[in-house]
Amino acid sequence: VTARIIDGKALAARVKDELKSAVEDLRRRGRLVRLDSVLAGGDPGAAVYASNQASACRSLGIEHALHELPAGASHEQIEGLVARLNADAAVHAIMVHLPLPPGCDTEQIQSRIAPDKDVEGVNPVNIGNVVYGRRSLLPCTALAVMEMIESTGVALPGTNCVCVGASNIVGKPIVVLLMRSEATVISTNKYTKNLSELTQGADVLISAAGRPGLITADMVKPGAIVIDVGISRQLGRDGTMRTVGDVDERVRQVAAWVSPVPGGVGPMTVAMLLRNTVDSARRALEGS
Ligand code: NAD
Repeated sequence: VTARIIDGKALAARVKDELKSAVEDLRRRGRLVRLDSVLAGGDPGAAVYASNQASACRSLGIEHALHELPAGASHEQIEGLVARLNADAAVHAIMVHLPLPPGCDTEQIQSRIAPDKDVEGVNPVNIGNVVYGRRSLLPCTALAVMEMIESTGVALPGTNCVCVGASNIVGKPIVVLLMRSEATVISTNKYTKNLSELTQGADVLISAAGRPGLITADMVKPGAIVIDVGISRQLGRDGTMRTVGDVDERVRQVAAWVSPVPGGVGPMTVAMLLRNTVDSARRALEGS
């Protein structure tokens, strides 16, 4: 058997189509949908991401306001900018590109973003809301993973799920959302002993470690759903750099469903950011 592919690009395109009409509807009701993004630090990768994001916004009729600070911007300057955006009623969706310049306290800046404008779900208030299951802006990658699992049609209650990787913004929120769906969940990290014994029991296996080739075919239960969150750059056999995930190619011979890299969780994460942006505009309009 060969696994079916969970096509992140196609799923993202479907989400974007829905968003386009939501953006138009909000505009008719007097609310302009807009994403304000802060870029400080002069990181070339972040600049590319910001410009891709701007075109993704434009394609849906979402306005994109880029607030660029010089590479040497201080913590106070960035905090000041976030405070101004928080106070501006025309702004309803804020994201801060990483990495920030040296000397900036990233977590502190993230905690300054007004929770109802925090479209990446990085403010600890929103991360806390993930646990309580309150309506809030959830971290985009975790939302993407949940949508991709849902697209397979498999119901999560009663399944065994294993998440490899437990960072604050990726692994932990995934685990909590799976718990909220009443799956049985195991969270693993780089200190986990006998990782393969755990993964072999997983009906749903999510890898978010950023370690190319970590998940091999022998670690996967036949018929499992495997979601690959990892993004790494690796030198290919042909001598060119390529983007790879954590999951080995041969897993496709064992699993029922596999998400590819690239073209999997990545595009869906962008779609979830756009959905959070539209949701925050709707809440700003409806005052809830
Ligand atoms: P991180 O470095 O903060 O965390 C990695 C986690 O993996 C840690 O909990 C660590 O303990 C665990 N880990 C590392 N090696 C392991 C091993 N051998 N066995 C088990 N666990 C191990 O990284 P992050 O920010 O959570 O990102 C993880 C990966 O996901 C990266 O490749 C990143 O580029 C990617 N990512 C993708 C998207 C997307 O949109 N697709 C979004 C965010 C991050």
